[in-house]
Amino acid sequence: MDLYDKFARIAREREQFQTSGLNPFGTCFDEIYSATEGRIGDRKIILAGTNNYLGLSFNAQAIADGQAALAAQGTGTTGSRMANGSYGSHLALEQELSAFFDRPTAIVFSTGYTANLGVISTLADPGAVVLIDADCHASIYDACALGGAQIIRFRHNDAHDLERRMVRLGERAQSAIIIVEGIYSMLGDVAPLAEIVDIKRRLGGFLLIDEAHSFGVMGATGRGLAEALGVEQDVDIVLGTFSKSLASIGGFAVGPKAMEVLRYSSRPYIFTASPSPSSIASVRASLKIIAQHPELREKLWRSAHRLYQGLAQLGYKLGPRISPVVPVMIGSKEDGLRFWRDLIAQGVYVNLVLPPAAPADITLLRCSVNAAHSEEQIDTIIQAFAALKN
Ligand code: PMP
Repeated sequence: MDLYDKFARIAREREQFQTSGLNPFGTCFDEIYSATEGRIGDRKIILAGTNNYLGLSFNAQAIADGQAALAAQGTGTTGSRMANGSYGSHLALEQELSAFFDRPTAIVFSTGYTANLGVISTLADPGAVVLIDADCHASIYDACALGGAQIIRFRHNDAHDLERRMVRLGERAQSAIIIVEGIYSMLGDVAPLAEIVDIKRRLGGFLLIDEAHSFGVMGATGRGLAEALGVEQDVDIVLGTFSKSLASIGGFAVGPKAMEVLRYSSRPYIFTASPSPSSIASVRASLKIIAQHPELREKLWRSAHRLYQGLAQLGYKLGPRISPVVPVMIGSKEDGLRFWRDLIAQGVYVNLVLPPAAPADITLLRCSVNAAHSEEQIDTIIQAFAALKN
């Protein structure tokens, strides 16, 4: 029995995908020119499969601040904040996030994955019960498993199903932890947060929302879905990442003063190295840009409408609502792979998402727009899809 025998099936499946042409699970960008353009092999391509929603990965200020921090403070912190100490910039960013969300406490983590792991695994201990949307991100599932709580999944975006399961919990509902996301990363749909908040008001519980894909994208000031729906008061903790609209790496949680205790009790906070000074400096610059430039969000949504409508007119089956994430449903895995490669040949890169990564056993091409895309680039993406329509 070999250590890797248990992976035989998945290895065979992946090999099939690799026998001809580009490997969708190991794409290498030979160059990245901007937030919207790169090169794969000898082909210049439009990047339409990122999470760089506000297109800030090449923002001049974010780059300059990152470079300055690199020169002034070095390449990395080389340790965790608890053991090795925080840098002033970690604390400054926490204050800025706390002010941006108007909440008493913000904690910075090394990635968005670690933010979810750090907050959820600590709160969702073996005595807790957690209700999670079935389509929640892997980091939320992993966090619940690490914490050891009782996990109850409710049907994706089905508030009635959540309510039914809460009612069944009886008195325990009052201390249950409900976890949902803002925009869901694969279908671009959003949690029915107003209904969920209504359930929480009636039955109790705590509400955590992962705004990874909605931070910077939704809400009057970019705070996410809870802001857009006017229910921020009912959300106990907001979780997020620096790797999408903030175009860097790291994660955060904002919540009540009591959340400070996580700094002494959360293993994924304590036992990993803190984010590097250059990442933190770029995030601080990008956070200011998000606060000062709402027009980026407006441009993003104009592009989202343009792409969604263009693809809908071509007759493609898309996600349930217009969003910066535009999923195109494709029949089989094989069709998906062929389509994905043909799009690259047309100069457009999108994400190929196969089950189980895509919900409900579907294969989809996940397109995403960002605020740096020009109208011409959006039209080029649409034309590439038009050329492949048979
Ligand atoms: N939450 C959600 C909803 C995500 O989609 C992701 C990443 N795709 C994460 C958390 C993890 O974020 P990070 O990549 O910063 O670790």
